[in-house]
Amino acid sequence: MNLDSEAEELASALGADKTEVKRDLENLVSYSVPLEEAKQSLRRKYGDSDDSSGSEPESKDLADVTPEDSNVTVTGRVLTVGKRSIRYQGADHTIYEGEIADQTGTLSYTAWEDFDLEPGDTIRAGNAGVREWEGNAELNLGESTSVEKREQSLSVPYEIGGGAALIDLEAGDRGAAVEVTVLECERKMIDGRDGETEILSGVLADETARLPFTDWDPHPEIEEGASVRIENTYVREFRGAPSINVSEFSTVEVLDRTVEAAESAPELSIREALDSGGMFDVEVRGDVIAVRDGSGLIERCPECGRIVQNGQCRTHGQVEPVEDLRTKAILDDGTGTVTAILDDELTAEIYGGDVEDAREHARDAMDKEVVADTIREAIVGRSFRVRGTLSIDEYGANLNATAFAEVADDPADRATALLAEVNP
Ligand SMILES: [Zn+2]
Repeated sequence: MNLDSEAEELASALGADKTEVKRDLENLVSYSVPLEEAKQSLRRKYGDSDDSSGSEPESKDLADVTPEDSNVTVTGRVLTVGKRSIRYQGADHTIYEGEIADQTGTLSYTAWEDFDLEPGDTIRAGNAGVREWEGNAELNLGESTSVEKREQSLSVPYEIGGGAALIDLEAGDRGAAVEVTVLECERKMIDGRDGETEILSGVLADETARLPFTDWDPHPEIEEGASVRIENTYVREFRGAPSINVSEFSTVEVLDRTVEAAESAPELSIREALDSGGMFDVEVRGDVIAVRDGSGLIERCPECGRIVQNGQCRTHGQVEPVEDLRTKAILDDGTGTVTAILDDELTAEIYGGDVEDAREHARDAMDKEVVADTIREAIVGRSFRVRGTLSIDEYGANLNATAFAEVADDPADRATALLAEVNP
């Protein structure tokens, strides 16, 4: 739309003179005032008789709210309400976060005051602030926002209450409710902001995926093997993958059904897995093209577990190192590469012996490298299916393997390969 037709539309909406409105609009725009802001300012000048709220910003559909908006008025249905405590300028504040929807889309919001929001409420938020979060617009409901609940429910094409399958959760989600089985659960003491506190951490699963979790205010219902519904969780990124956070505001209820854990991990190409930015449980297939240095018989610091060279730990100085087995295998599927990291057990399987055997092997050969060489011979050039946790950081893409198995080819392919080997 050009300025001329914008002016015409605005003038007729305001019942004002078109030439005057156009002159003012051109003037503002020539001073680099964004068009929407310029129109807003003219609405105030000429008095928008259609808008009973006077100085409130323009009403917008949620899909039209962009990070460039400073303030908007929206009407929508509250899908989720997550309650969370944050420390801000030395004091604890309770904030409310979640999603709001209308017919056109959804937006995340943060309420800095208690507006008594409940999932399912239809609200009109006058003068809501807009901020940018990772490229998307988010609503800020604060002191200067007027929140009115509407009697009439707005019907929206989204599920109310935040019930979510684990596979759909993303870092940044708030107020999510999950029904899960607790696969692993461990108590830990940490130095929290209020001194030493106990937390739970482990792994949750449903039929779609597995995700790590932390319960910052241990709930007794969360124990290994339990099937539970947890409401009011929030999702944060942990080592590049989504992690479920349970807080003092979460409610946990034991289910009278058993939630089945996903047996298999989603299988992706290496490129797709890398593009995800990190996944807690994923499976890829590829050829091992090399075994990196730092594989085979290695030495770790007994204090921190880091690799040591000549008994020197970067943090703990001279230590009595502990021997261990590890494999760092570069996997390539034609779309990308990832380093699969195999622990002592998985390494023992492909090496064909444990750490004792490896020590003896190295002593006999008077060279530790024979262990890594044996591993290289066993896997380089072959295809493997690797399941594990993918994390991506400045050191690269590492897949910490929980399973590493040679791809069982089609029997016909295998026969052909075998024939090619015996009749080169
Ligand atoms: Zn150390």
